[in-house]
Amino acid sequence: MSYVDEVLERVKAKNASEPEFLQAVEEVLDSLRPVIDANEEVYRKEAILERITEPDRQIKFRVPWVDDKGQVQVNTGYRVQFNNAIGPYKGGLRLHPSVNIGIIKFLGFEQIFKNSLTSLPIGGGKGGSDFDPKGKSDREVMAFCQSFITELYKYIGADQDVPAGDIGTGAREIGYMYGQYKRITGLYEGVLTGKGLTYGGSLARTEATGYGLLYLTEELFKSHGQSLEGKTVCVSGAGNVAIYAIQKAQQLGAKPVTCSDSTGWIYDPEGIDVELLKEVKEVKRARLTEYAAKRPSAEYHEKKNGEHGVWNIKCDIALPCATQNELDIEDAKALVANGVIAVCEGANMPTTLDATKYFQANGVWFVGGKAANAGGVATSALEMSQNSERLSWTFEEVDSKLQQIMVNIFHNIDDAAKRYGHEGDYVMGANIAGFEKVATAMIAQGVC
Ligand code: NDP
Repeated sequence: MSYVDEVLERVKAKNASEPEFLQAVEEVLDSLRPVIDANEEVYRKEAILERITEPDRQIKFRVPWVDDKGQVQVNTGYRVQFNNAIGPYKGGLRLHPSVNIGIIKFLGFEQIFKNSLTSLPIGGGKGGSDFDPKGKSDREVMAFCQSFITELYKYIGADQDVPAGDIGTGAREIGYMYGQYKRITGLYEGVLTGKGLTYGGSLARTEATGYGLLYLTEELFKSHGQSLEGKTVCVSGAGNVAIYAIQKAQQLGAKPVTCSDSTGWIYDPEGIDVELLKEVKEVKRARLTEYAAKRPSAEYHEKKNGEHGVWNIKCDIALPCATQNELDIEDAKALVANGVIAVCEGANMPTTLDATKYFQANGVWFVGGKAANAGGVATSALEMSQNSERLSWTFEEVDSKLQQIMVNIFHNIDDAAKRYGHEGDYVMGANIAGFEKVATAMIAQGVC
C-alpha cells in the first residue's frame, strides 16, 4: 500500500466522527500523491504525513457568560494549533452554532497550506465556539467575548498564536476580545488581527479576502488570454467575503448578479447594488428581503431545504463565498450545463469533493479556497508586520501588496501543477506548493 493510502487509513480510523476534517485531509493527501511518491522514502522515514495531519495541540474550554435576563449560558470554546513550522499559528475564530472540533480541525488543517502559499511567515491554526452572535445584544456579545478570552489568552500571543475573524467574528467581536486580552496581560501587542483602525488594524483588511479572490481570478483569466470584462458572476453569501468580492468584480468590469444568506438568495439581473447590500448586511444586519424591497430589479427567493438556488443562474464565473459544502454535485452539473468557465472559492471548502472533480473533468478552471481566499490571512500577516514596526501603511500600499501576493500565489500554484505534469490542476498545484515549504521546514527542524 502506498504511504499516502496508509496514512489516509490511519487518519480515517482515528478521526471517524469528524467528516469535514477527513474530507479536507483526503483532498490534500490525494492531490499530494505525485510529490509524495517521488520522495516516499524520506517522507515516510520522517513521518511527515502523520505529523502534518495531527495538530500540535487542541484546546477545548468552557465559556460561561450571563445573558440580558440574568441567566448563565455555557458555550464551548476551541483553539486548534495545528502547525507552526514556518511561523506563529495564524487563523480565524468562527462563532456559529455548527462549530465543533471536527470543523475547527478541518479549517486549521487547510490553514497550514493556505498560509504557506501566501509566502509570509505564518503557521496554521483555527478556533471558535458554538456561540451564535445572531440576535444577541452588544452587551451579551461582549460578555461572551470577555469570557472566551479569559481562557484563551493563556495560549495566544503576538509571536505564538494570532487569531483573527471568521464567520460570526467581525470587528465588534475582535474589539471586545482585544480589550479583554489587554486588560488581563497588560500587553499592547498584535495578538489579534482584524482590529479597528484606531487601535492597530490595517487598512484594506476588511476588503482583503474578497478583493484578493478577484485579483487571483483576474490573473487566472489573463493566463488563459482572457479578461473579466463583461463576465457574469454568481456569488453566494452576503458576508464579509461576498460583499467585497462583488465590489471588486464590478471594479474589474464584471457583473455579479447574485448573493445569498442562510435563509434566502437574490437574483439581480441588472447587477448587485453593492452599496445597498452593505447597508442591509453591514449596517442593519438584516435579511436579504430588505435588499429586494428596495431594489425593483431584484428577485428574492426563500431558500428551500438542500437547495442552493444561486448556482442555477447562468454565469461565466462562480464564486462560492458562504460556507463549507454549499456547492454540491447537482449545483456543479447545473453550472457546467450553463457554460461556467471558472469557479474560484471565496469560502473555505464550499465545494464538495465530487463537485470539484466534476468541474475539473469538464474543463472548468477550478481554484480552491486555500489559494483563492488567501488574501484575508495574507493581509492579516501584513497587519502583524505593521503592529511589529509600530507603523500604519496607506490603503494603496496594503492593497498593492495584496494584489502582488495574489498574483504570485496564482503563478506558484500554476507552476507547481506544471512541474508535476498536471497543468491546469490548480487544486493539486496549491496543495503541492503549500506542502513543500512546510515539509522542508519540518524536516530541517528535526523531530518535534
Ligand atoms: P460572514 O459571517 O461575514 O458571512 C457568511 C455569509 O455566509 C453570510 O451571508 C451567511 O448568512 C452565509 N452563511 C453562513 N452559513 C451559511 C449556511 N449554512 N448556508 C448558507 N449561507 C450561510 O463570514 P465571512 O464572509 O467572513 O466568511 C465566509 C467564508 O469565507 C467562510 O467559509 C470563511 O471561513 C471563509 N473565509 C473568510 C475570510 C475572511 O477574511 N473573512 C478569510 C478566508 C476565508 P447569514 O447572514 O444568514 O448568516
